[in-house]
Amino acid sequence: MSESEKVCLRSMLPEELKAFLTGMGQPGYRAGQVFRWLSQGVCSFDEMSDLPKSLRAQLEQQAYISRPEIVRKQVSARDGTIKYLFGLQDGNCVETVVMRYEHGNSVCLSTQAGCHMGCAFCASYERGATRNLTPAEILDQVLWAGKDSGLKISHIVLMGTGEPLDNYDNVVQFLRLVTHPDGLNISMRHISLSTCGLVPRIYDLAALHWQLTLSISLHAPNNAIRSTIMPVNRRYPVEQLMQACRDYFAATGRRISFEYAMIAGVNDSDACADQLCDLLRGLMCHVNLIPLNHVEGSPLLPSSKQTIRRFQQILQNRRINATVRRSLGGDIDASCGQLRRKAMAEKEGAKG
Ligand code: SAH
Repeated sequence: MSESEKVCLRSMLPEELKAFLTGMGQPGYRAGQVFRWLSQGVCSFDEMSDLPKSLRAQLEQQAYISRPEIVRKQVSARDGTIKYLFGLQDGNCVETVVMRYEHGNSVCLSTQAGCHMGCAFCASYERGATRNLTPAEILDQVLWAGKDSGLKISHIVLMGTGEPLDNYDNVVQFLRLVTHPDGLNISMRHISLSTCGLVPRIYDLAALHWQLTLSISLHAPNNAIRSTIMPVNRRYPVEQLMQACRDYFAATGRRISFEYAMIAGVNDSDACADQLCDLLRGLMCHVNLIPLNHVEGSPLLPSSKQTIRRFQQILQNRRINATVRRSLGGDIDASCGQLRRKAMAEKEGAKG
């Protein structure tokens, strides 16, 4: 069997492993053993010491285990934030960030290599080079970040490179894997999924009734502004997105989180703050105001501290929960595709 025909074992849930292994004539209980090994981050069949040698050899023929490589690692001297650049089997690479908070260690994961959503302020956008990560490649980021840092990972945010709902099936499978009681067993309540607003997929997610936190990258209170900075808004305008949020809350009972990157002169006026309040009225939600991270070569700049505070005040006066996000890892390119962008550019440069 050629490498590309082999099945990816770490992408499989226990019941799927069971079907696979019983198909090979193995007893069902082997699935539990294999799943536990995979969830511990083994990279070879030889490490699965409680499996018969003959089975390990058979597995080697038919299946493979993903094995990311740490290409780069940067540790923030300021706050201990760690940023990894992981190399994948096909030469692509993805970023993962470990952030240390009082409530626990959180890992920020990429769901695609690159992104085609095209948000004007984001460093992850790239034509062509985008592909979906497999469930295993998303899970590997949690496993390797934990193994290498020696930190216990208790929280996950799907806020790295990529649009999670544009890779819906693999992301959902990843969530089933990482929350599985026999696996890493991370609580859904400790997971946030951030989306630029793919409305039909928000409904799909709502139908699962999971307790994760849905985070919406809103960034503007009306279609005129949102469509200029986020092309996705032309497909799913603000009214549809807000209806999906209200329906999501009705289905899951989970408070929605809204991300709002403050961009000087673009979305930070008092009028914008007022419109945002109108938009969110009556919805159980939380607004995260984020000073824009400046991306090299971009004309978009962050709003001033004063403007951000004023914006926050307008929201709070109208009883909308709003906090200003503390920025971690500012000294290590820890945000929004910046390290990957640099590394990929260097690779291109080396080729040329
Ligand atoms: N595609 C998903 C998740 C990845 S982006 C989404 O759009 O939500 C994670 C968050 O970082 C999003 O809220 C995104 O809008 C935001 N972001 C991207 N570039 C940024 C920048 N330069 N400054 C601040 N936030 C940014």
